[in-house]
Amino acid sequence: MSSSFDLHTHSNASDGYFSAAELVKKAKEAGIKTLALTDHDTVAGLKQAKQSADKFGVNFINGIELSCQWNNKPIHIVGLNINPTNRTILDSIKLLEEIREERAIRIGEKLAKAGIIDAYKNAKRFAGNGTVTRSHFAQYIIESGHAKDQGDVFNRFLVRNKPGHVAVNWPSLEQTIATINVAGGVAIIAHPMRYKMTATKLGKLIADFKLMGGKAIEVVTGNNNPEEIRTTASYAKKYDIAASVGSDFHNEQTPWNQLGKLKPLPEDLRPVWELW
Ligand code: AMP
Ligand code: MN
Ligand code: MN
Ligand code: MN
Repeated sequence: MSSSFDLHTHSNASDGYFSAAELVKKAKEAGIKTLALTDHDTVAGLKQAKQSADKFGVNFINGIELSCQWNNKPIHIVGLNINPTNRTILDSIKLLEEIREERAIRIGEKLAKAGIIDAYKNAKRFAGNGTVTRSHFAQYIIESGHAKDQGDVFNRFLVRNKPGHVAVNWPSLEQTIATINVAGGVAIIAHPMRYKMTATKLGKLIADFKLMGGKAIEVVTGNNNPEEIRTTASYAKKYDIAASVGSDFHNEQTPWNQLGKLKPLPEDLRPVWELW
């Protein structure tokens, strides 16, 4: 059954709460049979996840969630079944690490001007050895009493036109898909409904993505409702592209994207796992 697949999750190698090994254990307990770890711009958790998956009898897929841009808009592309030792993907990760580091410094400077001091240092503390993300800034902004929860932080500080926002020149969509393909993986548009695009624009994104060598879109994600599933399913059919399923699990604080709680993939779609 398709709901025993979860192909989009995070560990503390990026902005997830659990270690890769703990994540796999949680996934097993939640009834997941095939799991992908897809941390933001890193493959650092994959080895540990695979070891844990072998121990618990979970079928494990090497994954990543790459940050990129299309028409100046930030887009997330999940790469599944990648070879994490591929030179090209490792080079891309290195570049993304530099982009993130520069952005983090600038976010820290901007937040300081808004009265939140030492945010860079503290975001790095929350990130530990993992990728530094806006979620880590959010954790510090909450800890220092400037906002009440993650949603509040993003609304007030970390998005466009807010004091802690820094625009990023992410790698192109085309380059990102090529990287995943070269690394032997399958490229998937993550959470398509979250970009808040018009139907025309989303259609254009999917058409471009397919022309560039992309293979699937996430039809079932943690926070989408039945209507959104129907909508994304109709895009998968219209553009004749495969469909993926992933919770985008980060931690246990967000009830809408928990492990093992995904709705099944509509049956008339081609599941992404048939592509590997
Ligand atoms: P980054 O990749 O560093 O820009 O950080 C993006 C991460 O921040 C996402 O993967 C989410 O985990 C989190 N995030 C982004 N937007 C929001 C939001 N509006 N509310 C809560 N978390 C968010
Ligand atoms: Mn995240
Ligand atoms: Mn994402
Ligand atoms: Mn994600």
